[in-house]
Amino acid sequence: MGDWGRAEYLARQGIRDRRVLAAIGNLSREDFVPAGERDAAYQDVPLPIGHGQTISQPYVVALMSEALRLRGCERVLEIGTGSGYQTAVLAMLAREVFTVEIVPELARPARRLLHRLGFSNVFFKEGDGSLGWSNAAPFDAIIATAAPEDIPRELLRQLKPGGRMVIPVGATNETQELLRIRRGQPGMLPRVERLLPVRFVPMTGHGLAPA
Ligand code: SAH
Repeated sequence: MGDWGRAEYLARQGIRDRRVLAAIGNLSREDFVPAGERDAAYQDVPLPIGHGQTISQPYVVALMSEALRLRGCERVLEIGTGSGYQTAVLAMLAREVFTVEIVPELARPARRLLHRLGFSNVFFKEGDGSLGWSNAAPFDAIIATAAPEDIPRELLRQLKPGGRMVIPVGATNETQELLRIRRGQPGMLPRVERLLPVRFVPMTGHGLAPA
């Protein structure tokens, strides 16, 4: 399926943000999957990328990107670089992307690939993203592509007032919900919306005390 076919497919699934459709249309997902999975790169399914991890389903990448409501001027934190596919989409939608990956064997090839593809607005870190990236905080938007049991307190702290966080949350992969959390002005409680039942790999790490 060609690029246009893919953007049209996502539009038919209900994705409305034209910048999201254009960003995904401009990327070759086959660049981000292992050689043995290339034939399946344009199917709307998650695929294995090694180390027990997966590249997310394109529809979910599109939905999460849209839910962040990016206009091009934002600084975004991503937890779970994985293949770097979602990272590349974000890099086309925002000013700067700070991405954290806990598995070095995934972080390094993703970093090399994004450099090779010419992305210069992405900053990479190997480590526990549940602790966020305090030196670069606060962020206009935060996205997690691995699921903690509860919303990590530190991530909420690193979100600007008015900022959006899109994150799958749930104790097991049967009960995860994709949430959008909007941090209000200081003193206000965050607003939580449920977007979709989902299945993500678990978020590992130590910063996982509930918010
Ligand atoms: N967006 C990626 C998804 C990869 S799967 C893609 O589409 O390719 C989720 C990723 O989150 C895995 O690579 C996993 O290693 C990573 N991860 C899990 N817990 C993490 C943590 N605490 N900090 C950073 N990365 C984490």
